[in-house]
Amino acid sequence: MPPGVARGLTRFLTDSYGLGLGRTWGHTDTVIVVRVWIDQDLCTGDGLCVDHCPDVFVQLEDGIAYVAERGEILNDPGGSGSLATVIPRHVVSVLEAAEVCPGECIFIDIDDMDTDLMPATDAVA
Ligand code: SF4
Repeated sequence: MPPGVARGLTRFLTDSYGLGLGRTWGHTDTVIVVRVWIDQDLCTGDGLCVDHCPDVFVQLEDGIAYVAERGEILNDPGGSGSLATVIPRHVVSVLEAAEVCPGECIFIDIDDMDTDLMPATDAVA
């Protein structure tokens, strides 16, 4: 992620959805869902992402970083099962990790989702 993009995304989320530390995330009947995945082919294994958010990024014995969701490591490179939902309190640190990632291999998906379609998770704080 190029420098400044994380800051811009954070600003967008804050302005549009009231995202902020200790604040409710979402408005009316729509919430925003942030997901993250890593292209392991590009990962340098330096561990900066783990330093930024160890609840979301983990390094396995192969030295490569993977994402985790609710404590479960999603280590299926290239598979759809490697897309982790980011809970609100980790969004800023995940965006910052994506910005500093030297491999530029942390990818963020941001979607609006109707609350009626939301699974019952802690993704909506
Ligand atoms: S910051 Fe990027 S390159 Fe470094 S370990 Fe994490 S995903 Fe891999």
